[in-house]
Amino acid sequence: MNRSNTHIIFLITLFAFFTSIHAFGQESNDAIFQTSIVGAIFQGDYDGNFTFGELKEKGDFGLGTFNHLDGEMIGLDGKFYQVRSDGTVHEVSDSMKTPFAVVTFFEADKVETIDKPLSCNEFKEYISSLLPTRNIFYGIKVKGDFSYIKARSVPKQKKPYPPLAEVAKEEAIFEFNNINGTMVGFWLPEYLKDINISGFHFHFISDNEKSGGHVLECNLKNVQLEIDYIRDINISLPDTKSFNTLNINTIKSEEVKKVEGVKK
Ligand SMILES: [Zn+2]
Repeated sequence: MNRSNTHIIFLITLFAFFTSIHAFGQESNDAIFQTSIVGAIFQGDYDGNFTFGELKEKGDFGLGTFNHLDGEMIGLDGKFYQVRSDGTVHEVSDSMKTPFAVVTFFEADKVETIDKPLSCNEFKEYISSLLPTRNIFYGIKVKGDFSYIKARSVPKQKKPYPPLAEVAKEEAIFEFNNINGTMVGFWLPEYLKDINISGFHFHFISDNEKSGGHVLECNLKNVQLEIDYIRDINISLPDTKSFNTLNINTIKSEEVKKVEGVKK
């Protein structure tokens, strides 16, 4: 074999190698970072030792809650918001702590415009049809006009902390009509169900930064959908006595329905 033939074979091999790594095209290289696991939160482990200052170094986009379970958290474009159970929205200071948060540095791998009305379930079915595989993780950003959002927040808890299913009974419900804003969320595979919420999980923040919460229902009018394909996950477990002594049970799907209030 002469030198130029060897060269060509080398180039073909190189091309085949690179095209085989990215089965779905060029993916941005990013990771999910989360503090604690839902198994611990479901059992009432509501105090973590991870600050929002530290969390901001792990992602600019995500959701979660605060120590004492003091409301719903939304992270968008590097800014973090707290939606308390009275419906008020506050900017989160770096010294505040979280017992559970899920973030990533959001980079869209797929962008779609949706300009027809869709219910939350129709929308979730549509997103599901776009996912190239059900075995990896996805960050999902939905920005635009919503004809309806039903959201909730949870009230700050006192010790001894009740399990999350008990707290969900006293959740505050907010309904918004014709509102502009962003749904921030994730789709995670079934096999992560004791680590995080499997399926879809969305929080909402309005453009005027005055309304939001954990999304229970939604109707879309005209939105831009962005999906971030993610293959890495980093989990930081709290270094607290309560976490270390917790007897973490497997989560039952009825419990998730009670707490999350959404169909998968
Ligand atoms: Zn939530």
